[in-house]
Amino acid sequence: MPKAAAPSRPQPKPAKEPHELSECTPRQLPPLLGASKGQLTEWVQTQQQPAYRGQQLHQWIYQKGIRSLGEVTVFSKQWRESAAHIPIGRSTLHHRSEAQDGTVKYLLRLTDGQIIETVGIPSDRRLTVCVSSQVGCAMACDFCATGKGGFVRHLACHEIVDQVLTVQEDFQERVSNIVFMGMGEPLLNIDNVLAAVRSLNEDIGIGQRSITVSTVGVPGRISQLADYSLQVTLAVSLHASNQLLREQLVPSAKHYRLEALMADCRQYVAQTGRRVTFEYVVLAGFNDKPEHALELAQILRGFQSHVNLIPYNPINEADYQRPSAQQLQIFLQILQRHKVAASVRQSRGLDRDAACGQLRASQLEDASNTYT
Ligand code: SAH
Repeated sequence: MPKAAAPSRPQPKPAKEPHELSECTPRQLPPLLGASKGQLTEWVQTQQQPAYRGQQLHQWIYQKGIRSLGEVTVFSKQWRESAAHIPIGRSTLHHRSEAQDGTVKYLLRLTDGQIIETVGIPSDRRLTVCVSSQVGCAMACDFCATGKGGFVRHLACHEIVDQVLTVQEDFQERVSNIVFMGMGEPLLNIDNVLAAVRSLNEDIGIGQRSITVSTVGVPGRISQLADYSLQVTLAVSLHASNQLLREQLVPSAKHYRLEALMADCRQYVAQTGRRVTFEYVVLAGFNDKPEHALELAQILRGFQSHVNLIPYNPINEADYQRPSAQQLQIFLQILQRHKVAASVRQSRGLDRDAACGQLRASQLEDASNTYT
């Protein structure tokens, strides 16, 4: 008698085909900034120009930083003049202030008059840009100046890429790292953020591993991000070791429970092979007790992650306190003793309100502060 076939073991789910980042491009041109070489090649042809002009235009936009097509001297004078009104998508500098540690905060004016903030952070061999992804923010985290100001609108892809070119031009140095830690919640504006990541990576040449997308968590969006085969770092703003505490700091946590957020992070690690960074703003007497550190260590046990402890940067609208160095050390040591990789993030640009959570353009709209 033929042997019955052995019952087959449940097979692991077949790996999904990852989405291609190259498909994330601005939906329509102009503005031209944020467009790929391919898109620019198609676009120049719609302007009755030969295809090779697309490659040239790409170079003039991303390497020479043109602000008008009138500047592209390799094109015929006649075409340049007729195309000079077509927007590239660059912002104008509204205000620039430099902190003692060399960190520079920029207020940039967008074409509709909205002002956003960008920070350039130089260190040994790096130039990091902290970019905004929205004008304002809807998440209303209790300790964050941007959150206190409310949401105005999403940034378009070109408005994100422009911030990086602006810092690069001002420092006259290549930008090496990008953190989406300025104003806004990047995952609420995921299409434009992905299009900007593509452009920063492919058009400007910034490695995906040098790009960090920071989120407080938006249901469904961490999995959406995981579906792209990206090498970017995901940073999750956790700030609390349990649901109750988190709800007091992050109102949106009511709709995205800690367990669900952590499950999505685990899936992200499994799918991308990248570890997740957890950010934890340390508020003295609130979430900085040894029992919080222990609880945090428990949730993160065996998790491929790194914890960034961010001592609270004071803002006018909240009366939390910055923890003492000693308190921070105790917290850090508890995590490390429990084999949780962790470090304390140095605050940069504190004297110019350019540090994490201090960004809010309205505070600096005073015209007497303005120079360009
Ligand atoms: N919305 C995104 C990115 C913007 S904020 C997010 O929440 O991750 C970038 C980081 O700065 C977040 O971890 C945020 O919680 C932190 N932050 C906000 N306000 C702060 C403050 N006053 N002091 C220290 N860190 C703060």
